[in-house]
Amino acid sequence: MSAPITALRHLVVVLGDQLDEHSAAFEGFDPALDAVWMCEAPAEASHVWSHKARLVLFIAAMRHFRERLRARGWRVHYAATGEHPHRTLAAALTASLATLKPGKVLMVEPGEWRLVQDFASIAAETGVSFETRPDRHFVLPLTDFAEWMKGRKQPRLEHFYRWIRQRTNVLMEGKEPAGGAWNFDHDNRESFGKEGPQNVPQRFGFKPSAITREVIALVEQQYPDHPGSLARFDWALTRDEALEALDDFIAHRLPQFGPHQDALWTNQPWLWHSHLAAAINLKLLTPSEVCEAAEAAWRRGDAPIESVEGFIRQIIGWREFVRGLYWHRMPQYLDDNALDAHQPLPAFYWTGKTDYACLKATIDQTLDTGYAHHIQRLMVTGLFALLLGVEPRRVHEWYLAVYVDAVEWVELPNVMGMSQFADGGFMGSKPYIASGKYIQRMSNYCTGCRYDPELATGPKACPFTTLYWDFIGRHEPMFDQHPRLKPQVMNWQRKKPEQQQAIQREAITLKALLASSL
Ligand code: FAD
Ligand code: SF4
Repeated sequence: MSAPITALRHLVVVLGDQLDEHSAAFEGFDPALDAVWMCEAPAEASHVWSHKARLVLFIAAMRHFRERLRARGWRVHYAATGEHPHRTLAAALTASLATLKPGKVLMVEPGEWRLVQDFASIAAETGVSFETRPDRHFVLPLTDFAEWMKGRKQPRLEHFYRWIRQRTNVLMEGKEPAGGAWNFDHDNRESFGKEGPQNVPQRFGFKPSAITREVIALVEQQYPDHPGSLARFDWALTRDEALEALDDFIAHRLPQFGPHQDALWTNQPWLWHSHLAAAINLKLLTPSEVCEAAEAAWRRGDAPIESVEGFIRQIIGWREFVRGLYWHRMPQYLDDNALDAHQPLPAFYWTGKTDYACLKATIDQTLDTGYAHHIQRLMVTGLFALLLGVEPRRVHEWYLAVYVDAVEWVELPNVMGMSQFADGGFMGSKPYIASGKYIQRMSNYCTGCRYDPELATGPKACPFTTLYWDFIGRHEPMFDQHPRLKPQVMNWQRKKPEQQQAIQREAITLKALLASSL
């Protein structure tokens, strides 16, 4: 840590996912009077069993940001791993406040409920004045989301999305949606067909800088038993790199983003996705500039409307929507368990050691890169945990740990709401359930698997198919009148009692087997 300074006016606290030089916290910053405070706290690194790539991403991006601020002549008090004795951010900041004695602490509102509580406690315990400023990174202020939520018991993305398109004027022609429709999903959601994906663009990555190489060595040394590999680490860590990654996506991937956004293929982790979530979540890019770049590509005729609309919906639709829901529902979200699910998370989620080909492909890729695309998260690892009945909190801890873009405000609603239906339908109208036949249709995983997605029982039974029917049988009373799930429940009811019993026996055996392999 740097030496104490006298008469420090403001100490600007910058968290690991607040790496934006234009944030509200820097408004009025005077380098002669103010200083910045940043900290690598071991408790943040081990709060969940973080993938090594997630650790490198956060620490290296923070260090690059520190250098950028110092290059502007700003004082940065930076507590690096191993150079301070504190485990938590709270302990490190409390100690710094005692030595630096700032007139006031300034910060942007933290993105995580737990940290808001921590900073409130520090303010109360130290008596130092704290000013928390709104996070201008997001398109929608939280107060406006709260206004939109008023009177809504079941908020739905489609309503929110139309409202925010009109409010922001993104992809609009006057009062009408550009291209004549709000949603082009019927043109998307294609599989690759038997021939597989063709002409997939090269991954656009970045060679680790000297700072990043130092952090890679540090993480290998400090967190040797954490999951994941650093061999392929090439994520954007600075604003300049993030802008380059955005340009590459707009030029080479966006045009094909829509049609194939739901498709899966062995050894094809990147496909036509943007891989920008980590850079956006660290605040190296703003959601508005990302949407502007996509819309401009459509207006120039460089990308079709179905791809551009599909992409923009993820950002100003889903991303803003889940952030609003997170703050609306916390802290209850952490404990939601509407389906009363209590199975442990199978051990192979941390190792990839399984002969279920789809899960192996998705988990191996996750451990190799810290990345999986949305449908891998939702319809492979998420679906399996849902059908198996894994305790939602354990599923949440896994997702928060293993993805480079994982931060709680976006991960938690996606896991508890969208993927595990733990909130009982608050976020989505029905659980995303499917048998192995969905995975067979959308991927080539099943061709290399020793199980058969058609079969629910017997030695070649696909675990997704067994557990799908078991799930419906288990939750029949909850869903038999559900307008969208009723047909699936009726298919279960049409099975002979001996078929139903055989499936249930198979599911019990499978659950016992997976629980015993922990
Ligand atoms: P693209 O497919 O290129 O999508 C474009 C962008 O849209 C993303 O970069 C992201 O910023 C945004 N986006 C897309 N889908 C969502 C969504 N459902 N919610 C919010 N934003 C979205 N996203 C995270 O950023 N962090 C997480 O920790 C995270 N955990 C998830 C867990 C589960 C179980 C599921 C189903 C989804 C999760 N998502 C999470 C959402 C989504 O899967 C990722 O944003 C996306 O896969 C990141 O890859 P990409 O940047 O290539 O996205
Ligand atoms: Fe996955 Fe079942 Fe297909 Fe195997 S058969 S890849 S377990 S869906």
